[in-house]
This record gives sequence, structure tokens and C-alpha cells, in this order.
Amino acid sequence: MNIGLFGGTFNPFHNGHLGILKHVQDSFDLKKIFLIPSATPPHKPWINLAPATDRFKMVQKSLHNQKGLFVSDKELTRKGPSFTIDTINAFKNEVADDTQLFLLVGSDAFLDITTWKLKDNIFKAIHIIIMLRGETDNPKRISLFIDEHISKGYTFNKVTCQFCHTDNKKIFICRVPKIDISSTMIRTRIKNGLSIHGLVPKSVETLIQTKELYK
Ligand code: ATP
Repeated sequence: MNIGLFGGTFNPFHNGHLGILKHVQDSFDLKKIFLIPSATPPHKPWINLAPATDRFKMVQKSLHNQKGLFVSDKELTRKGPSFTIDTINAFKNEVADDTQLFLLVGSDAFLDITTWKLKDNIFKAIHIIIMLRGETDNPKRISLFIDEHISKGYTFNKVTCQFCHTDNKKIFICRVPKIDISSTMIRTRIKNGLSIHGLVPKSVETLIQTKELYK
């Protein structure tokens, strides 16, 4: 069985997240995808971070009726910063031996991976699906980045858009539908008194309004 792990701050969860997940779910036959809200993102110095419990609820409520998508509280129940390698290892300990785990990351997050804790262990532990995000991201750019920063041992198959390595797991590049929504954009709209209708699931909109988040 193929299982995807998708970490994020989800501050807030939005329709861009949902859209790309549905695409990747089908493209890679992922029977389950676990969405993992991070407690303390090590890479983002937040000044307007909603409480973890609210971000968890936003994801949880949005996944109601979404087949194969689940929320995980793994990073919220662990103390300290949320390091991806710790989360991957926790899942590896729980799944059956024949399960293939895939880490889903946006291309913007991937290009930041050199700063991640024990990044080399991540490449050995799990397949990675890089979801191309934005106009400027293309396989060539990712390929150069991998050559320069990750390992010389990867070869790129242009047909499958996949990097293979004899020791490490595979890295896939996935063109996801372009959905021009980000959490930053939503927080900014709220600050400016603009509507976020249609940008987030209805349950997220209601929770943000009720709790007066991001004002
Ligand atoms: P922020 O604007 O606060 O940085 P975000 O919208 O990027 O937030 P995150 O919770 O940080 O949301 O995203 C989790 C993952 O989802 C990241 O890997 C990010 O690249 C990816 N992602 C988020 N929105 C999109 C989108 N519209 N298209 C493609 N990937 C996305």
C-alpha cells in the first residue's frame, strides 16, 4: 500500500492544499494521506500563528467526507520543534513492512531542505514527491538543486520525471494544478478586512470567524 505524509503549518488550511492533495492522491495511487500540522515550525518565525489546536481542527473538519485523507496529531503530541525526520521515523515504526511511504512537499519547501535536520537520512528513509509550485519552478531547476545540494548519485529519468539513486529512495516531480492560494495570502486578506470565501473550506472560514483568528 502507498501512503503519503504531508506536513504543513496549515496556518490556515486552504483549498490549495486540498486541490494538490487530490491530484497527488490519484497520480500516485496513495491509499491514505496523513496531513500533519506542525506544532512549532523550525523554519518559520511566526508572529501570527494560530494555536496548534485550532490549526488541527481546521484540517480535521476540512477532511470530513474526503476519502483517503486523514489528519495526524503526531507533531502536536511531541514536545519541541517539529522535525520531519522524527515524524517519518514515527510513521515507519507503525506501518506494515510492505508499505511504501511518500513524503509530499511543495517545491518551495523542498528548495529549503538543506536546512532540515538530518536531511540525508530523509532521502534514505522515504520516497519524496515534489509538487511543483509557482511559475518559476521546473524539473530542471529541481534537478540542478539536487545535483548541487543533495547527492551526485541521482539520475533523472525525463519520461517518468523521477530521480533514482542506488542507495536512497526515489524522488518524483509532480506537476500539480496551479492554484493561486497560500496561507499568507489568506492571513493578509483577513488583516485587510477582505473576504476569504471560496479560498478555504467552509468549516475553516467559520472557525476563523468564530475565533477571530489572524486579525
Ligand atoms: P504560507 O503562505 O504561510 O507559507 P502555505 O500556503 O505555503 O503557507 P503550508 O502549510 O506552509 O502552506 O504548506 C504546506 C505545504 O503545501 C508546503 O509544502 C507548500 O509548498 C504546499 N502548498 C501550499 N499551498 C500550495 C499551493 N497553492 N500549490 C502548491 N503547493 C502548495
